[in-house]
Amino acid sequence: MFRGYRIQHNNTLGPYKGGMRYHPSVNLDEVKALAAWMTWKTALCDVPFGGGKGGVACDPRALSTTELARITRRFTYAIGSNIGPEIDVPAPDMETNAQTMVWMMDTYAASTNDSTAAKRVVTGKSVECGGSLGREKATGQGAVFGLQHWVDGHGYNLGGMSASIQGWGNVGGNLGRLLGVHGVLIKTVSDHTGAIVADEGIDAFDLSHWVEDNGGVAGYPKATEITANEFWDIPVDLCCPAALEAQITADVAHRLQAKVVVEAANGPTTPAADEILRERGIEVLPDVLINAGGVVVSYFEWLQNRTAEQWSLDTVDRGLMDKIWTAADKMAAVQLEFGCTRREACYVVALRRLHAVYEQRGIWP
Ligand code: NAD
Repeated sequence: MFRGYRIQHNNTLGPYKGGMRYHPSVNLDEVKALAAWMTWKTALCDVPFGGGKGGVACDPRALSTTELARITRRFTYAIGSNIGPEIDVPAPDMETNAQTMVWMMDTYAASTNDSTAAKRVVTGKSVECGGSLGREKATGQGAVFGLQHWVDGHGYNLGGMSASIQGWGNVGGNLGRLLGVHGVLIKTVSDHTGAIVADEGIDAFDLSHWVEDNGGVAGYPKATEITANEFWDIPVDLCCPAALEAQITADVAHRLQAKVVVEAANGPTTPAADEILRERGIEVLPDVLINAGGVVVSYFEWLQNRTAEQWSLDTVDRGLMDKIWTAADKMAAVQLEFGCTRREACYVVALRRLHAVYEQRGIWP
């Protein structure tokens, strides 16, 4: 028996939207928090979705493909009509991927007589099964666009900067490879298997091959192994958490030697750590903006499924950049207005967006 969750936080702007996580630590409070972040993220980026999230408490690394398929199909069947193309649209998150989404879609489609509409009950599908070009890298790509906005605003250059990345999965791996292409030196990487450092930089594509073959960064021969704790002490310009939440604790925030924290993961910084980073003058590019690329391109996928179209990668990337930059501009304007943090500014933008709808529609009956 496995325990699964689906939380529907808010659907004022459109269908509930959010990932499905498979991890041993998945629990009700975590899924609730992740669902609420989705509400702020979709409102901030002005995509017509609400906030939702789901997960199954399991260790996918200890399960066979057949077992994962059975868990996914049984979970999808169990939540039944609580999800739907206009109701609640799941997507991949930690330890789930395009295959998980295709199993969900297929299971849902088997229970409806409209298999065309059923296609858009989930996003993050493989391109063959109705997915969008650019969805796989979307969260990493969105993070790079968000980072570029900050870099341009400060007159810096991405090329020549150094970075640390925690997590080399969908988000961390894509972010690392894209940063590498922009000339950023990837100095240190950690994941669930260990941590590595190389002062001369780590080749993101070479590391990706290693991780694919070996299941993690541990043992990568072209870098030195360090402990997961030492990872946070390596001086870098960009610290990019891309794994679990609550990784940058107060202790880590005191030790961190970075100019900016790029929150590619959801909720990687604890509130106490956030305060310490602020006092220390370390800038934080908040998760609801930085990792919104996934949900933005999920929206594009949902639109493509609706109109039976396939957009070019260029169209997807341009649309993503526009959404992230527009949200970043709104955040910057609110930051000036209130003299608040970027995170607070993002919440203000999102709450204003929701407030406008609540105010005009009213609550009835
Ligand atoms: P993933 O499963 O593809 O990768 C997760 C990575 O985290 C793996 O490299 C894993 O080894 C690492 N990890 C796990 N436990 C760890 C630990 N204790 N210490 C260090 N590393 C650890 O997941 P993902 O899709 O890349 O998601 C990563 C984060 O990004 C999550 O916070 C997720 O909610 C967020 N996110 C993902 C998407 C998306 O589109 N996939 C979108 C927005 C936000």
